[in-house]
Amino acid sequence: MFRTQKKRALERTNFGKEVIREQDYPDRLNMYLIPPLAEITLDEFEEWALDRLRVLSEIETCLFRNRNMKMTEQSVKPLLEKYLPLSPNSVSGRVNKGSQLDTERKKDHYSHFILRLAFCRTEELRRRFVKAETVLFRMRYLSADVAEQHALLARYNFGWTLVPEDEKRSLQEYLNFASSESTYTPSPNESYFTVPFERVPELVESRKVFVKGGVAYVPASQQLSLILTEFSEKLEKALEITARALPRLDEDDRLLPILAHLSKGFVAPEYIPDNSTTAPGHGVVRASQIDSLVPHFPLCMRTLHTALRRDSHLRYFGRQQYGLFLKGIGLSVEEALGFWRSSFSKCTDEKFNKEYRYNIRHNYGLEGNRRNYKPRSCAQILTDAAPGANEHHGCPYRHFSEDNLVAALQGLGVSDQGVLRGVREDVRNKQYHVACTRVFEATHKAPGVNSPVGVGVGMESVTHPNLYYDRSVQFARQVETVDGENRK
Ligand code: SF4
Repeated sequence: MFRTQKKRALERTNFGKEVIREQDYPDRLNMYLIPPLAEITLDEFEEWALDRLRVLSEIETCLFRNRNMKMTEQSVKPLLEKYLPLSPNSVSGRVNKGSQLDTERKKDHYSHFILRLAFCRTEELRRRFVKAETVLFRMRYLSADVAEQHALLARYNFGWTLVPEDEKRSLQEYLNFASSESTYTPSPNESYFTVPFERVPELVESRKVFVKGGVAYVPASQQLSLILTEFSEKLEKALEITARALPRLDEDDRLLPILAHLSKGFVAPEYIPDNSTTAPGHGVVRASQIDSLVPHFPLCMRTLHTALRRDSHLRYFGRQQYGLFLKGIGLSVEEALGFWRSSFSKCTDEKFNKEYRYNIRHNYGLEGNRRNYKPRSCAQILTDAAPGANEHHGCPYRHFSEDNLVAALQGLGVSDQGVLRGVREDVRNKQYHVACTRVFEATHKAPGVNSPVGVGVGMESVTHPNLYYDRSVQFARQVETVDGENRK
């Protein structure tokens, strides 16, 4: 997959010729015990990793907000279908195979291993990665059919031994007694596995298993707990080994920037504009509409807009953050020039053309290196330099004092003490995008519209200011539709 592993992955044929073997993916469920061997392009390397990161970020947000498994699935499922689909071997009894199936499984396999490289660097990152990956594996295991689950058990040797029927009968009294100590009741036909007792500490601790001679008798219905323990333990160990091997990658100046970018946070997905939810009207925003659209802006962009209106000026980083956001919501370069020119009302035409015009055109790829710059994501904004005196860029959840943040939120109409308490807690835990999602949910409620409709349950969390805007506009449209129907 990458240079150092590639060397190890080479296999010698009879003729001493080096070939790299492509892996087969006969099963959907993967414990990721074998690293991928074939080469992929750098574009695939980055794109696949980012797609998996989107899914893991959402899982982490749900875990942080103590969402139960059902709600987590509701939030993560649409992202999984979009970014990391994994089709089963058969659909409605018909065999499902082909290149699409292989591509999906290959992407799943590679993206997992790429993110291992990004998240093995510190203990904290490893812990978060293992947690999110284990939840993902759990969701996939539970959505698999029995044949797929059996295929997983047959493929990976977990070292469990099926208890023979006669032994089970002779121990039935003890097995029943163990289960009566817990809230769990096995069925009379339950089959049992034996495993070393230290492999199932939670089951032993909660007295869900009978232990004899150093082995625990685990009912088959508790298998999931065993599999998840295996999965997370193996992944933890593998990450530690990868972390030790990582310095060898330092020679590769193509991969390091990508890995550094990925490890900047779990909340770093690039923004992909959703054309169906762009600004109200025709998907094109005019300079004259901006003030009326501010209610759809997240707090970071409202702060910049307020400062711009108050001071008729914004400093460089503020102009960059706000200008690219406005570009993302549909402001063309001509409209952007008009917007900034009228907003900088205290400055002369000459000064504007000399000092600001170039930068605005540059952001649209019309000057200099002609790169088409994207709006900045929350992760980028959060990791950029903090605003100094007279600067207003950054994320208010991170950069405002607690009192200023609460005052700003009250200005948005957030007065619910529970919400404000939750926001304070999120901020103290450095979960700024979670605080932002919480505020979105609190400010986007309407009778007759499923709430929250924007982000949060069933939808993505806020990971990008433009995503916040899109979802807010989408919400307003739904409210309008419901109102229209009620008036009929
Ligand atoms: Fe803006 Fe993101 Fe901070 Fe929300 S979390 S205020 S969208 S930077």
